Amino acid sequence: MVTQYLLKYYGCPKDTCLMVLKDTLKKMQKFFHIPETGEMDQKTIETMKKPRCGNPDVSNYQFFPRKPKWEKNDITYRILGYTTDLDSETVDDAFARAFQVWSDVTPLKFTRLMDGDADIMINFGRWEHGDGYPFDGKDGLLAHAFAPGSGIGGDSHFDDDELWTLGEGQVVKVKYGNADGEFCKFPFLFNDKEYNSCTDSGRSDGFLWCSTTYNFDKDGKYGFCPHELLFTLAGNADGKPCKFPFKFQGKSYDSCTTEGRTDGYRWCATTEDYDQDKSYGFCPETALSTVGGNAEGSPCVFPFTFLGNKYNSCTSSGRSDGKLWCATSSSYDDDRKWGFCPDQGYSLFLVAAHEFGHALGLEHSDDPGALMAPIYTYVKNFRLSQDDVNGIQELYGAGSRSKPGPGPSPTLGPVTPELCKSDIVFDGISQIRGEIFFFKDRFIWRSVNRRSRPSGPLLIATFWPQLPDKIDAVYEDPQDEKTIFFAAR
Ligand SMILES: [Zn+2]
Ligand SMILES: [Zn+2]
Repeated sequence: MVTQYLLKYYGCPKDTCLMVLKDTLKKMQKFFHIPETGEMDQKTIETMKKPRCGNPDVSNYQFFPRKPKWEKNDITYRILGYTTDLDSETVDDAFARAFQVWSDVTPLKFTRLMDGDADIMINFGRWEHGDGYPFDGKDGLLAHAFAPGSGIGGDSHFDDDELWTLGEGQVVKVKYGNADGEFCKFPFLFNDKEYNSCTDSGRSDGFLWCSTTYNFDKDGKYGFCPHELLFTLAGNADGKPCKFPFKFQGKSYDSCTTEGRTDGYRWCATTEDYDQDKSYGFCPETALSTVGGNAEGSPCVFPFTFLGNKYNSCTSSGRSDGKLWCATSSSYDDDRKWGFCPDQGYSLFLVAAHEFGHALGLEHSDDPGALMAPIYTYVKNFRLSQDDVNGIQELYGAGSRSKPGPGPSPTLGPVTPELCKSDIVFDGISQIRGEIFFFKDRFIWRSVNRRSRPSGPLLIATFWPQLPDKIDAVYEDPQDEKTIFFAAR
């Protein structure tokens, strides 16, 4: 795994990587501002395990031989495929906003094409998806994009084994009920129990539903979650619901299937006989409650047995990575069907904005505050950093909206502070778990002993994702080893 990571992202030569391992590790540690030990220490392993972009971190290697850019300002894009995690409007909107991030600070204009050849072709795929750079299942590698150029140049691909959201859990638009068109609120409270995904609890017809406010018991607002018996997606049947059982190649099917496809997407016929009518659609997955695994998104079944023990909720038992999973039948031991439990997912907007940066010619930045940093970190109120602005304006210039007047040009985005290069007034300093942490805006530096230079900057969000953009004070309660933060609202 280690040499693969270094080969893929740091150009470590395939056959001789072990010989230059120490130097390549140091290169990687330097990039991420962690101590340059040249060893596989804890911090290095943690960093390698983080979800990230599939493009390499060193330039002049594989993807980007020169500094390629588009020799025009009008750039076209086309969305070839959709994820079933989000409704198509939400996907279109996320991509449009991601392009706007870049058009806001350059003269670039992005136009969406509905057919034909566009400069930037966008698609979702799983594992090997046609370009020789395979994806890897849930987490790990999230997406990749090719530098400007003809053919595959500019194309951006997203791993559809990820749970695509807007960064804060499943985005499910409900149908019917009394809140048609609104979004599920996860978790929601029903009969004093919290639900993190759509449920058939309280119903006997098998339809999945959710509450659109936190407290269903009090507000009673609900709708039905996308389900193959309500409607299908794409295909040729105009969204008609599945018809079960249906016949396909002489065989009868009682549920959606991936049979007859190589891409793993679940489909169904919308009439009794596919062989004769050829009418079909894809099954919406938004309501289903597992991701990845081998159960094609079927919901968890509780309780389930695993190695003889009964589980009433998602568990990380049997896994070393701490990820929560569940069985999708009452006995994992017998059926071996499972999936991961839904988590916050990855923000399609943020990942797309990063990938489109590559599609315009940017490489990875070692500025942890930059959008072009390779590791995914969710931020609620996104702003393009000055590092990204500098990078893109070096290629395309500033747009009319951001043209500086006379005098020194103003910075447009937040600048990542540099230790010892500018006067920094820290927001807080505290010893936490034996290390000294220095806090400044979205960033921290950490130091194991008082004499060495602190390493960093690193994003606070990689340690404490729930913290706001700026804190006012911090301390560690030595009694129960809890860290207490103060922040103005
Ligand atoms: Zn990237
Ligand atoms: Zn690809």
